[in-house]
Order: sequence, then C-alpha cells, then structure tokens
Amino acid sequence: MSHMIELHNVSKFYSNKDTVSTGFSKVDLNLDMGEFVVITGESGSGKSTLLNVISGLDSYEEGELFIAGEDTSGYRTEDYERYRKKYIGNIFQDFNLVNSYTVYQNVELSMMLSGMPRSEQKQNIPEYIEMVDMTAYTKTKAIARALAKNAPVIVADEPTGNLDSASAEKVMETLHRISKDRLVVIVTHNYEQAAPYVTRKITMHDGRIIEDKKIQPAAGDLSDDE
Ligand code: ADP
Ligand code: MG
Repeated sequence: MSHMIELHNVSKFYSNKDTVSTGFSKVDLNLDMGEFVVITGESGSGKSTLLNVISGLDSYEEGELFIAGEDTSGYRTEDYERYRKKYIGNIFQDFNLVNSYTVYQNVELSMMLSGMPRSEQKQNIPEYIEMVDMTAYTKTKAIARALAKNAPVIVADEPTGNLDSASAEKVMETLHRISKDRLVVIVTHNYEQAAPYVTRKITMHDGRIIEDKKIQPAAGDLSDDE
C-alpha cells in the first residue's frame, strides 16, 4: 500500500535576483490516512512552506513527492489544481465561507459548487453538521465546509491563531475526530494546545525535520464511543 503523501529528500528554495533562500531542505516524510499530524517549530523554520508543498500550493525544487501513489514530478499548474480539488481541504485559506450563512447554508453552498446532486446533498448535510457539533464558531463552519468537499486530506496553518482557549480546544477536538478516516495536517507554534489530540508530532528547525514522533493522543478514548 502506498502512503497518502510521500516525500523523498524534498527541498524547497526561494530564488530572488541573486539570492537563494531555503524554505526547507531534505525532508523525508510518509503521511497516512487516519493520522492527525502537527508540524511545530519556531518562526521561520519552514512549517508553512512544508504545508504548502504538501497541499500543492507551492512547487519544490529537489526530491520526489508522491500523492496517493502518484508521482508529481511532471506536474504542471493544472495538475496541481486537479490535485487540490480532489484531495485537499484547506480549512483556513481556501474556504469562501459566507459569514452571514448558517453552518447548514455553508455546507449546502459548498456541495452545490462541487456539483453534488441535490438529493445527495440533502442526505449528507446532517451528517457533516453533526460532525462539527452545530457550533457557531466561524472556524468550525470552515471545517464543515472542508468536510463537505469530501477531501481526504485536511490541512490548516495555525488553525487556532487568535482564538480563545475554549474555541481552540473545540477546533482541535473536531480535527481529532475527523482525522479518524482522513489525514489531517496542521501547523502550529503552540504545540501544547494540540498535544492532547494529535497522533504525530513533527518538529522543524532551520528548514529541517529534527524530530518525528508518533503519539498516542490523550483524547483518543473520548471520541470513540459516539
Ligand atoms: P514558518 O512557517 O515555520 O514560520 P516559513 O515556511 O514561512 O516558516 O519560512 C521558512 C523559510 O523560508 C524562512 O527562512 C523564510 O524567510 C523563507 N521564506 C518563506 N516564504 C518565502 C518567500 N515567499 N520568499 C523568500 N523566502 C521565503
Ligand atoms: Mg508559518
């Protein structure tokens, strides 16, 4: 079985006129469905760049990237677009959330845009809404929309940035729950907040992965008995 996402010795450089700076370098990584991965590390360590390469928003200059077993080395812009459409739910950048809409309306809108038949929409909406607990938080609405897109890979850069701690916990809990049958990858500099929920901690420093650790999430038992 191939991994959902596979990086072999991947490097990302930014070239300006006569300077080249490193986004990250020589990353080896396999990511699988069912994982809730947190990428952490200090500012400028390459977290966002790595997430952007994983989610097909950024190119890479060296190494190999496989997505659902598919080699991306020959990918052009339209291939990356197809990839993002099919696989990636980007919770906090990609969403065109309508704030005045209810969760239901946002989910419905997303399904309409994805071309899902109306009968199927009606069937699926309650399930997606239930999964986010019908909370009114804007960011929870965004998760509902990413779910409605039915993307197997959910990514988020600092999903709890400027949220109060109760809302942040709610978002982590939801991400934890949906990661059961998806791959969730988030970036945060606040590891403590994510720690009870994640299954894997990746730490970056100076563009390198310096630690890659599987974790048994403390919250693991909580959401199994629903
Ligand atoms: P983090 O998300 O961990 O704060 P980034 O991935 O944003 O780190 O940045 C990693 C490195 O890549 C930093 O040294 C940063 O200056 C550089 N970098 C990021 N984006 C660009 C860009 N658009 N142009 C040039 N350098 C960049
Ligand atoms: Mg960043």
